[in-house]
Amino acid sequence: MYTVLPTGKIAETETSIIIGLGSRQLVVSKDKREYYKEILEAVQFGLSDADANLIKEKDFNFRDAFDALEQGGVISSKRLTTSKADGIRYKSSLYLSCFANDVESVSDRMEKTTIFVIGCGGIGNHVAYSLSSFNIKKMILIDGDIIDETNLNRQFLFGVEDIGKPKVDVLAKKIHSLRPDLDIQTYNDFVKSGILTKILDETSGPAVAVLSGDSEDLLLNICPILIENRVPFLNVGYLNDISVIGPFWTDTEDACPFCFNGLGVQEDLSSEDSLSNYCSGYQAPSCMVNNSFAGAMAVSDIINFWSGDKSHIKSVNKRVGFANSTFEILNVPLRVDSHCPVCSSINQHGK
Ligand SMILES: [Zn+2]
Repeated sequence: MYTVLPTGKIAETETSIIIGLGSRQLVVSKDKREYYKEILEAVQFGLSDADANLIKEKDFNFRDAFDALEQGGVISSKRLTTSKADGIRYKSSLYLSCFANDVESVSDRMEKTTIFVIGCGGIGNHVAYSLSSFNIKKMILIDGDIIDETNLNRQFLFGVEDIGKPKVDVLAKKIHSLRPDLDIQTYNDFVKSGILTKILDETSGPAVAVLSGDSEDLLLNICPILIENRVPFLNVGYLNDISVIGPFWTDTEDACPFCFNGLGVQEDLSSEDSLSNYCSGYQAPSCMVNNSFAGAMAVSDIINFWSGDKSHIKSVNKRVGFANSTFEILNVPLRVDSHCPVCSSINQHGK
C-alpha cells in the first residue's frame, strides 16, 4: 500500500517541480506537472501495490514520476506508523524517513540492538541522549570517571549537584527521566578486557559500541575484544576544532582504528630535547561545539548502519572530520592492513 509520507513535501516554481526536502530533494521540469498531480491524487488516501503498478505501466512518464516521488521520500510503500503516542520517539522516528524509505526496518534493527556507550563524557552524553530518543530498548554505559566542575561546559546532562558522583549513574538517571522504559546497565569502571568480555558474554543479540574515550591505551584494550566478538564499533572524538568519527568497524572487511596507523598516532620521541616534550602539557580544548558535532555525526552514521545498506555508512574505511571553524569536511581513507597489530590475527583466526 502506497501512502504519502508525513515528511513528504512537494513544491513548484515557475519552471520546476521540487520533490522532497533535504538531501533527497529532486528537481524536475514543470512540463511533467500533470503526471505528478495525478499520482499524488491517487496515493493521497492509500494506493494498493496493484493499482500503483497500473499507473506505472501507463507510460514512461508515469513510471519516472512515480519513481521520483518514491526516491524523494514523498511517497512510500512502507507505511510510517509512528504517532504522537510514541512520545519522545515520535519526531525522531519521523526523521528516519530522511535516511531510508523502509523506516520500520530501521526502527526494528534499532529495537533489537544493544548500544554500548564506552566513555560517558561530552560525546557519551550526546550520543546516549540522542539514541535514547529513537526506538532503542537497551543501553550499557561504561565509564570509571566521576563528574567535576570542568565537565559542565559540555557534559550537558550533568549539573552542579552531580559533582563528585559517577558519570554512569547520573547519565543513567537523566536518560531514565526521558525514557523510563529503557533498559540501562551501568559499569562504574574504566573498561578493561575482563569486564568488557564478561558483559559481552552476557549480552545476546546484535550490539553496536560507541567509543569516546580519549586515550590510545583504552582503544588498544577495547578494539580487539569488540573485533573478536564481531561487535560493530565507531570511534568518536575530535582534534582541537575538528570533530572526527571513524573508522566504523562493521565486519572483517573493514579497517580498524589501528590499520595503517589509522589514528595517526605518532611515535613517542624519547630524546630529552625532542619537539614533543615542549608540548607535554597539552590540554584538549573540549567544548560543547566539538563534542556535539562529533556526537551528531556518530549518531547519523549509526542510523546509516541501521539502514541495512552498508554503502550508506560514511565512516567505514575512513576517518571523517568536520572542521568547526571553517565548515570543511575532511576525509582520511583507510583500508584493511594485513599486518595490523590489532585486527590482523583476529581476522585470520576469528573467534
Ligand atoms: Zn586493524
